[in-house]
Amino acid sequence: MTRTGIGYDSHRLAEGRPLILGGVLIPHELGLAGHSDADVLTHAVIDALLGAAGLGDIGHHFPDTDELWKGADSMALLVRVISMVGDARLRLVNVDSTVIIERPKLAPHREEIRARLAAGLGVEPGCVNVKASTGEGIGFVGRGEGVAALAIATLEPLV
Ligand code: MG
Repeated sequence: MTRTGIGYDSHRLAEGRPLILGGVLIPHELGLAGHSDADVLTHAVIDALLGAAGLGDIGHHFPDTDELWKGADSMALLVRVISMVGDARLRLVNVDSTVIIERPKLAPHREEIRARLAAGLGVEPGCVNVKASTGEGIGFVGRGEGVAALAIATLEPLV
């Protein structure tokens, strides 16, 4: 049986923080604030994987009250989660995602993000898609206060 899961995350933009999306450091004057590295895209992908596998959510596995995950590299968390997926005798078919960000433009970084996510997930880049959208000047994204990300993952049984 094929299984699907969705993921959503948002983080606040702040000065003095790196902007890391899908494990890629994006040059920008603001970055994402959070307990971990605040990689909003990777967090959405993690929740999509956990959702598809029926394994709860990112906060359950990596609580932000736990000092262990302070400043954590979200790509390392992603690798742990894909390992959990394998332990559940499931295999990743594909991931699709959308980053909702006003600035900077993600197009120049899209292929690198895709390749980095695919490497972390242990799949070909063709199994991972990364899209970008803006807030059209409205809402917290449009005002440049934060960045949001959505992801969907499809899993199938390991044979
Ligand atoms: Mg998060």
